[in-house]
Amino acid sequence: MWDIIGQTETIATLEAAIATDKLPHALLLTGPAGVGKTRLALELAKALNCIGDGPPCQTCVHCRQIEARSHPDVSLIERADGKENVQIAQVRALREATSLRPYQGRWKVYIIAGAEVLTLQAADALLKTLEEPQPQVTMVLTAVEADALPATVLSRCRVVRLHPVNDDVLTAALEQRGSEADDARRVARLARGNVGWALQAAKQPKIVVQRREMLERLGAVPDMDLDARLQLVESLTSDRKDRSSVRRQIELLLLLARDLLLVKGGLVPHSALDDQQEALRRQVERYSMAELSAYLQALRRAMIRIDANVDPRLALEAALVAPK
Ligand SMILES: [Zn+2]
Repeated sequence: MWDIIGQTETIATLEAAIATDKLPHALLLTGPAGVGKTRLALELAKALNCIGDGPPCQTCVHCRQIEARSHPDVSLIERADGKENVQIAQVRALREATSLRPYQGRWKVYIIAGAEVLTLQAADALLKTLEEPQPQVTMVLTAVEADALPATVLSRCRVVRLHPVNDDVLTAALEQRGSEADDARRVARLARGNVGWALQAAKQPKIVVQRREMLERLGAVPDMDLDARLQLVESLTSDRKDRSSVRRQIELLLLLARDLLLVKGGLVPHSALDDQQEALRRQVERYSMAELSAYLQALRRAMIRIDANVDPRLALEAALVAPK
């Protein structure tokens, strides 16, 4: 059993590819933060190396070592603490390692999490590895948006999109993990598809309250005048080094903007809280469809710019002055 919430179609596709020996040598998993990209990459590594029944069995030596991040043939490469990019040395080490036979398992799996933060040189080095596929080596890159990667890298990967997990699936999964039914439902609604956040929130009620407050604050953006928006940007970016918190706010803004577009198109908002739906209907009356999609695009650009190390305040400001 794959230890992952949702993504059943993707798992079925990957299982079929493994069974028929047609797994692409390089995959790029895309999808919103917290949807389970790195998790899925690790589960894929288990499925490839598992020696138990119904791989990944989660109990054989390979599954357990991969879970503990101690499997010699499975590497997870990500931005080191305090560094803004994945460095070229990390990719060079990977290139050398890919040329060796698997040490213990049947497959070497290299996971590059957050591939949008590869330095240019690191992306170049990676390209060489992607151009010379080795047998029994699978590269799995992850990124929020495929567009954020150099076209040369992108063109050598099979893109697999992970979709936000729906509330019912997430609620059931949280209940299975011990949450009360009401709590599970509430956390799932607030998570808006972010599984990583939901699993954490189910254990820490405080962060549920914080998220609710933040959603209410950000949900008011379309009603704000320019001054109020600039003040909001100021307060959200008071700690200029905290890129990841600004990133999280933009994720929430993106979800709210998608809801605005859905409501404008006469559809049910995907993930708005019940008590926010009325406000959404009121807000969309002030904007045209074109203005709302320009706002969504501006937020997407802000996310890419943040990942490209643009000053978070500038990136957020550019996005929030978009809906006039
Ligand atoms: Zn196993």
